Amino acid sequence: MKLVLLGPPGVGKGTQAQQMSKTYSIPQISTGDILREAIAKKTPLGDKARAFIVKGELVPDDIMLGLIQDTLFGDNAPKGYILDGFPRTIAQAEGLQKLYEKHSDNLSAVLLLEAEEDQIVARLSARRTCRSCKAVYNLMTMPPKVDGVCDVCAGELYQRDDDRIETIQNRLTVYKKQTAPLIDFYKSRGILKTVDASGTPEEVQTNINRQLED
Ligand code: AMP
Repeated sequence: MKLVLLGPPGVGKGTQAQQMSKTYSIPQISTGDILREAIAKKTPLGDKARAFIVKGELVPDDIMLGLIQDTLFGDNAPKGYILDGFPRTIAQAEGLQKLYEKHSDNLSAVLLLEAEEDQIVARLSARRTCRSCKAVYNLMTMPPKVDGVCDVCAGELYQRDDDRIETIQNRLTVYKKQTAPLIDFYKSRGILKTVDASGTPEEVQTNINRQLED
């Protein structure tokens, strides 16, 4: 299975991708995680991406397409995966299609996760992320057992800079302008499946499994 999780920041793509990765034994490929890792390690990619990420802007398409080409089509490319956070623009989606055509391959499905905007803002403000294993928590609905400590690996939980309220609004604006057009892009290709993501993580998981079984 080669899947894309599409939807606004905070709708639960990361949480669902982590769960699906366990259920279907395929890796989650989060371009946001890859970029944050590059920033932490101060690599050239990280240096280029940092200024965009802190402002809630998108990293330029040529950088993202280069990254995805190496990850999905390079040596040791995975046979199946869940793309979380890519593509995010029409140019990225078109670039990805070209790569698939070149390799006589294609996406299996694109899952669009939907929830109301006030719920999304609340989720983003309450989100905490593990510095080590990237597990995602929510202080209101899915808190860790011990305050500030990851249940999975005992790593430190932190609030991403771009999950602060000042940046959240810009990320949502960027989503509507640059990423939402992908809904029609994939709908017209007949591979878009819409999932109600307003419930608990378990409920959303059930909705996703139902769509995938269809
Ligand atoms: P995420 O963790 O998916 O919310 O991504 C965090 C940030 O990383 C985004 O706000 C962008 O600045 C950057 N980013 C991640 N994926 C992409 C992408 N496909 N295209 C452009 N920028 C991206």
